[in-house]
Parts: sequence; C-alpha cells; structure tokens
Amino acid sequence: MDDCIFCKLFEGKIPSTRIYEDDTVIGFKDLRPQARIHQLFIHKQHTRDINDLVSTDPNQLTELFRAIAAYTAREGLTRGGFRIVTNLGPDAGQTVFHTHLHLLAGEQLGPFGA
Ligand code: 5GP
Ligand code: ZN
Repeated sequence: MDDCIFCKLFEGKIPSTRIYEDDTVIGFKDLRPQARIHQLFIHKQHTRDINDLVSTDPNQLTELFRAIAAYTAREGLTRGGFRIVTNLGPDAGQTVFHTHLHLLAGEQLGPFGA
C-alpha cells in the first residue's frame, strides 16, 4: 500500500532495525520503546488492523505468532516472559494503520488497561 509507513519500512524505503524476518513476517525495533525490549511484528501483506487481518486471511495470525514464538525462543525471552499487545482504533491509541503486534519484554512490566 503506497501510503503506509510500515509497508514502506518493509520495502526498505524507511530505515528500521530489523530483528526478525521469514517468508511472510518481519519484526523490527519500535522507534519509541515502551519497555527495555519493544519490537513490532507485521505481516508483509497490508491490512489495517487485527479485525481486518482476521477477515482477510486468518492464517496470517498463525504466521505472526509463529514468528514471535521463533524470535522469543531464539532470544531466550520465554523464561522471563513477554507481553503481546495490538491496538485497534482511537480508544486504544492506534496510530499506524498496518496491523502490528507489540512485543514487550526484558523487564518486569507494569499493569495495563489504564
Ligand atoms: P500503535 O500506537 O499504532 O499501536 O503503534 C505504533 C507504533 O509504531 C508506536 O509504538 C510507534 O513508536 C511505532 N512507530 C511509528 N513510526 C515508526 C517508524 O517509522 N519506525 C519504527 N520502528 N516504529 C515506528
Ligand atoms: Zn501497510
């Protein structure tokens, strides 16, 4: 999608620090980390949010979570644990409209939902 910042990032038109890639998914460091480890995982096919993704191709959800499982195992993050977050719409504070999963880890995380 022409106007999408994460499509541009995936195509290399915007710089990023890539921490994971397979055939269908990439992971990269969040520009403004909210935890010691804060990565974003996106599918290479554009959808605008998690509900759009599920109605477009629910298999993408499996591909995203397989990527996260591979990355967290590789980086030894399953022992301390991690949190996955996705925001949809203004109440949740979604600012980028290419479906992405936040991976937060590397420290004791605070409460959420406020
Ligand atoms: P949202 O608020 O939509 O759930 O999350 C968007 C996330 O994307 C934010 O955490 C923000 O810091 C991150 N972000 C926005 N623009 C860029 C960018 O150009 N590069 C990277 N690496 N992260 C970005
Ligand atoms: Zn996109």
